[in-house]
Amino acid sequence: MNITIQKNPNPGTLPPANQLGFGNYFTDHMFLMDYSREKGWHDPRIVPYGPLTLSPASAVLHYGSEVFEGMKAYRSPENKILLFRPWENMARLNKSCARVGLPELNPEDALDAIRQLVELDRDWVPSAEGTSLYIRPFVFAADAKLGLHTIEEAIFAVILSPVGSYFKDGLQPVSIMVETEDVRAVRGGTGEAKCGGNYAASLRAGDRAASLGFSQVLWLDGIEQKYVEEGGAMNIMFKIDGKVVTPMLNGSILRGITRRSCIELMQHWGMEVEERRIALDEVIEAAKAGTLEEAWCVGTAAVVSPIGELYHKGTSYVINNNQIGELERKLYDELTGIQWGKRPDTFGWVDVVC
Ligand SMILES: *Cc1c(COP(=O)(O)O)cnc(C)c1O
Repeated sequence: MNITIQKNPNPGTLPPANQLGFGNYFTDHMFLMDYSREKGWHDPRIVPYGPLTLSPASAVLHYGSEVFEGMKAYRSPENKILLFRPWENMARLNKSCARVGLPELNPEDALDAIRQLVELDRDWVPSAEGTSLYIRPFVFAADAKLGLHTIEEAIFAVILSPVGSYFKDGLQPVSIMVETEDVRAVRGGTGEAKCGGNYAASLRAGDRAASLGFSQVLWLDGIEQKYVEEGGAMNIMFKIDGKVVTPMLNGSILRGITRRSCIELMQHWGMEVEERRIALDEVIEAAKAGTLEEAWCVGTAAVVSPIGELYHKGTSYVINNNQIGELERKLYDELTGIQWGKRPDTFGWVDVVC
């Protein structure tokens, strides 16, 4: 794709690794491309990072027509900049677009845009242990028309943010709360799409959990509130009595790429992984019986996040003595090893940008 590049005349500098946190700083440039029904996607450009100008009537501001992706660029010991399974993100972005009526992208062009932007801002990819450059591609409706209508204008944008290590002191078990009031997604809804509105609707429960000292909520299914679905922005896995189980993709769960990668790794290691419906009761019974060996969340941000405590309706269940489990550690080490280019990429998951 032929991208015009306007360089930032006032480039910034990468803050020290211990100040980064998550999503607080942005690089010198961003990618933008416009869509209109007549012209299709056009005018791909890299410009200095900065505010956008939008009509106050833009559909995104009224009807929430927005979808996004979350991926990372990693700096390898050889100073190569690597992406992890970016093709999967592009495919998922298009599925999300299709679900909310936004125009789909050519996945090769979208990835090309990300690669060119990351290469231009490669000095912003931090190098300290556990740090990376978070990549946020997003698509939103820009039509300046208030009537609820088919989207005719949209923008595809990519911004980049250097991020610190998710765990400040290495892998740490977290406490999570089962959410019993709000639901995140329902059958036929938008749970499988990474669309902005899902997260707006989940914030209240997240805040409630945080005020009680929990780092995340565990969502149950939206119909019976009986089956385990996923964490706030992470999928969930359990090891019960020697067997790994994870909720099956049922249309209301996000198709996590970390989830898929963990399943493929464990299968490669000869382990059996069941993808099926899991009742919360089953998990609680296992916790009581002492057969819930490990429970962990998986997602791009944290990779593997061990769950040390599960709280449900006034009762706390401690998992694995609030310690990091053997399988959690093994998955974390292998996945992060591949992502940061420290272990062999035997599955062809790594894309070298530059
Ligand atoms: C992004 C996300 C995940 C994790 O997906 P990855 O591709 O592994 O990063 C899981 N659940 C929700 C709700 C998400 O938004």
